[in-house]
Amino acid sequence: MNLKDLDRKYVWHPYTQMKDWRNFDVRVIEKAKGSWLIDSEGKKFLDGVASMWCNTWGHTRKEIVNVMIEQVKKLQHSTLFGLANEPSILLAQMLVREARGMSKVFYSDNGSTAVEVALKIAMQYWRNVGKSHKTKFVALENGYHGDTIGAMSVGYIPNFFANYKKMLFAVERAPSPYLYRRPKSMSKDDFVSHCIDSMEKLLKNHDDIAAVVMESGAQLAGGAIIYPDGYQKEIKKLCERYDTLFILDEVATGFGRLGSMIEYIEQRSTPDIVAFGKMLTGGYLPLAATLASEEIYNAFLGEFGDYKHLFHGHTFAGNPIACATAIANLQLYRKERLVESIGKKSRVIEKRLREIERMEIVGDVRHKGMLVGIELVSDKRSKKPCKVKNEKINYLIMKESLKRGVFLRPLGHIMLLIPPLAISNKELDLLLDVAAEIIKHIQKKV
Ligand SMILES: *Cc1c(COP(=O)(O)O)cnc(C)c1O
Repeated sequence: MNLKDLDRKYVWHPYTQMKDWRNFDVRVIEKAKGSWLIDSEGKKFLDGVASMWCNTWGHTRKEIVNVMIEQVKKLQHSTLFGLANEPSILLAQMLVREARGMSKVFYSDNGSTAVEVALKIAMQYWRNVGKSHKTKFVALENGYHGDTIGAMSVGYIPNFFANYKKMLFAVERAPSPYLYRRPKSMSKDDFVSHCIDSMEKLLKNHDDIAAVVMESGAQLAGGAIIYPDGYQKEIKKLCERYDTLFILDEVATGFGRLGSMIEYIEQRSTPDIVAFGKMLTGGYLPLAATLASEEIYNAFLGEFGDYKHLFHGHTFAGNPIACATAIANLQLYRKERLVESIGKKSRVIEKRLREIERMEIVGDVRHKGMLVGIELVSDKRSKKPCKVKNEKINYLIMKESLKRGVFLRPLGHIMLLIPPLAISNKELDLLLDVAAEIIKHIQKKV
């Protein structure tokens, strides 16, 4: 049996209707270089979603791979339960230097768990300081924080999580600043005020809120919804005013996606706890980190018998290979002035998006840094999500992109362009060409 058939026989893919997968022309990726994935038949595909939003440099970047190899030879894994290791120590120091206002680093191995840890820290913080009635969380509509139970609970993508509702804990919801889908009667400014006022009302009327949890800078899985200027800072101020912790999820936006190294610094909204993942290792290995401020951390100090310490830990926490990879990755950010280079690329994207914006089925184009969301609609006035007869639009986009030598994975009718941050201008042009071609192709079918 060839690999494609073996895949269909044995592998259960994430977020995939496996019935459709049987008929899908599966691509088996064998190796990759730069922005290009290369499959078992030698075909090349531009990695248009940065291997699920985590790739920084493109693939097989020498400086990082060499560090990985050296670390593999020296120490593959040793536990943080009772022991320490050099890469995890040095990485923590680097992270605390970057993430202003944070002073301690708690390691895990994926974004969902980094969020779980943030929730548990917030919950226990209030118990430890004698306010154990503060146990509820407020989160945003359209937020996404991962797929474990706590992360799903604070997340809000009804189609994703409806099946699991009974196992999730209750969360207070504030509206998402999704300007494109605001009520017709409201101006943009009115709507942003409405979102902030709704949050204030929630916090004012509940004295049992442990924390407000939201993505930093933009909601990605919710549809590439970019926050309006000043919004995040206002939410942070409300958390201070109403004695609530502020948890930011920078799993997708940390380390450059929106053109900033740390997005909360850009947004002038320092959280109490922040979660990082995805691009922390440049997308080469699973690693995540939850950072907390000194004040939060100090509340966990006490006598052993008081049980004030954090009851959480993962087998592979602080894995030396992953941490060494992250160090090499972050050093390269500095050496190559990567974040500065995004400004220029972002302007290239902006120019190209103006053509796309005018196309018939394009309802809204959202762009910041190296994040692009193109919302396809059946017509611009009704804003009804675009549908194609007898075909699922996300499969259609995937299929059409692969045909053109690009890999795209949209969110339903929202096309996402989330390339590796170090993608070349030429490759960016190709990505936008293909996006435009696919939209034209769909336009003919609508
Ligand atoms: C991807 C993502 C997560 C979950 O990270 P995993 O590594 O997939 O568990 C959490 N929050 C945000 C904002 C994400 O984009």
